[in-house]
Amino acid sequence: MEQETWDVIIVGAGSAGMAAAIYAARFNLKTLIIGKVVGGLLNESHNVENYPGYKSIPGLDLMMNFKEHVDNLGVPIKEEWAIDAKSEQLNDDKKRVFIITTKDEDEREHTYRGRTVILTMGTKHRHLGAKREDELAGKGVSYCATCDAAFYRNIPVCIVGGGDSAAQAGELVAQFASHVYMLVRSEKMRAEPINIKRLETNKKITIIYNTQVLEVLGEREVTGVRLSTQYNGSDVLPVSGMFVEIGQIVQSELAVKLGVKVNERKEIIIDSDSQTNIPGVWAAGDVGNRKYKQALTGASEGAIAAFGAYALLRSTEDQPSDVGY
Ligand code: NDP
Repeated sequence: MEQETWDVIIVGAGSAGMAAAIYAARFNLKTLIIGKVVGGLLNESHNVENYPGYKSIPGLDLMMNFKEHVDNLGVPIKEEWAIDAKSEQLNDDKKRVFIITTKDEDEREHTYRGRTVILTMGTKHRHLGAKREDELAGKGVSYCATCDAAFYRNIPVCIVGGGDSAAQAGELVAQFASHVYMLVRSEKMRAEPINIKRLETNKKITIIYNTQVLEVLGEREVTGVRLSTQYNGSDVLPVSGMFVEIGQIVQSELAVKLGVKVNERKEIIIDSDSQTNIPGVWAAGDVGNRKYKQALTGASEGAIAAFGAYALLRSTEDQPSDVGY
């Protein structure tokens, strides 16, 4: 039996992918989302306070709203890892179809055929590279404050990083921990001023600038961190937990397999229409080379990508949908 061909396959189920799906479905395109983690990193955002229409909403709730919207439009979501992607030329050398291979949680492989593809794979947490960091991951070293903050009640904790993720984590963890040390490697934080102000005015938070974590201490669980500088006369800061919030690594491997161009940071290069260098392939959200990376901007790029896919497919309307474009 011939395999079905989707008009649009969206890889990634964060805000960019969800918005692309909403637009594509409303354009009446046969749309599939492939995404192992529905919601992406936004799920880990404690409170989102800059998405229009919501003064403050937990990231998880915002994503649930997106998912409900997508479900309502009948777009299926395959909760699988996309592991490979290629394009195949069809008879006429101008037409091609994209083939995405995935793995499910039982390690079974599946393939999906799409006339167009929108890549929204986002990013994953960057690790610090400090001595014994990996050994103590899950034993006091955490990469998700939203998930783990409540485990650190009444004990001192440090947070590494100086961006908005670190600032938000600091504010959240301080609701539980006895004290929070923000460890910033440079002389200033780069978080939004409103987020920095909240840290500076919180009595449970101390910001230490110009310092780096060299080593995580503790045998079975974290008992401290060794710093590159002295604090209170010692290079050992006694803490029972360390949250690493130092940014993200772009997950663009799949794009590279398709021949999509990425920049030196591995971000997919897109134009103002979210179009990549490969006709039929768009990218949106944190995986792209946009300067500003927010749930809202990613959603907007996803919507623009869906417009592009719709326009391209419409321009080849005479082609039956199982022969690519
Ligand atoms: P960012 O890239 O903005 O910040 C990363 C931080 O980690 C920087 O302070 C950087 O230091 C520091 N860092 C990087 N590597 C190391 C290291 N090896 N050791 C110590 N420190 C290190 O990442 P974020 O995850 O904070 O934010 C990503 C994007 O998401 C940003 O655009 C941000 O604005 C947005 N965001 C917005 C939120 C909001 O509330 N509006 C919430 C969360 C994220 P340095 O400055 O010295 O390079």
